[in-house]
Amino acid sequence: MTSKDKNWKEIAPAGVCSKSSKSFLTGDWKTYTPIRDVKKCVRCLTCVIFCPDGAINWVPDKKDIEFDMSYCKGCGICANECPTKAITMKLE
Ligand code: SF4
Ligand code: SF4
Repeated sequence: MTSKDKNWKEIAPAGVCSKSSKSFLTGDWKTYTPIRDVKKCVRCLTCVIFCPDGAINWVPDKKDIEFDMSYCKGCGICANECPTKAITMKLE
């Protein structure tokens, strides 16, 4: 992003950003934060598939998932879809 580009906070409502959203850290939109109970997590990757922001990643070296809070918008879909209820949403 160059200094003359507008960020998502500066574009008009309903405006469409013509560039990749990768450089916009949408994580600061969130009100709720997903918290995972690692003891309840069975690494089924359902949350990875359902996260609309690609904010949950499988890390092969760790054999575990990792949340990227820079992009998590706090929508709660991961918590809703987790079959073992390992994720709870906490108010920030
Ligand atoms: S959906 Fe739940 S159990 Fe499955 S990997 Fe995600 S947090 Fe773990
Ligand atoms: S709260 Fe929403 S954006 Fe954040 S990790 Fe869960 S599904 Fe992804």
